[in-house]
Amino acid sequence: MKYYILFGPPGAGKGTQAGNMVETYKLKHISTGELLRAEIKAGTELGIKAKELIAAGCLVPDEVVEGMIESVFNTTTGVEGFLLDGFPRTLPQAKALDEMLAKRGEELTGVISLMINDEVIKARIAHRAAIEGRADDAKEETIQNRINTYHNQTEPLIDYYKAAGKYHEIDGDGGPGLEGIEVVRGRLTEVMKNL
Ligand code: AMP
Repeated sequence: MKYYILFGPPGAGKGTQAGNMVETYKLKHISTGELLRAEIKAGTELGIKAKELIAAGCLVPDEVVEGMIESVFNTTTGVEGFLLDGFPRTLPQAKALDEMLAKRGEELTGVISLMINDEVIKARIAHRAAIEGRADDAKEETIQNRINTYHNQTEPLIDYYKAAGKYHEIDGDGGPGLEGIEVVRGRLTEVMKNL
């Protein structure tokens, strides 16, 4: 089985690119953000707890998302691998993932990082707010908090995966519009071909 991580700051285009990749490589897409939004929509206890944290631009507790990932691993059949999007976001999550994979006799195939700068992050999120109506895309303060959370808690994973020889970075800015998405898709395909 293949285990890919699509890594990058909020607004990097992980969700957009994941759609293409799962079809091409017969992967199961796991977006912890989407799973959490589904819990909120369904009004579950977990969703109620997660809602405020997400609205504030904070992370939900590691155990919560780790449990979600493990449960999808255990219940998915008929795919050739998994594409993790938005997970891991902290060092403890990365270590928990390594342990989960080791328990399954598997290892991480690779981390592909879509890199964009803070200015592009803000522009992308503003654009997405108008299209998807996500509550955490609407408030300036929440967006800034998510960017800070990324730099403080998630960015250290870059060195973790570099040390493991798993880190592959591409420029996540392919220019404006649909053409830009295609440009990034080309870069992503180039990297995945060799993993
Ligand atoms: P996303 O859709 O990936 O941008 O995630 C939206 C929000 O869900 C994040 O800002 C976090 O509050 C929460 N979230 C998603 N994935 C994780 C994760 N791996 N760890 C902690 N919180 C997460």
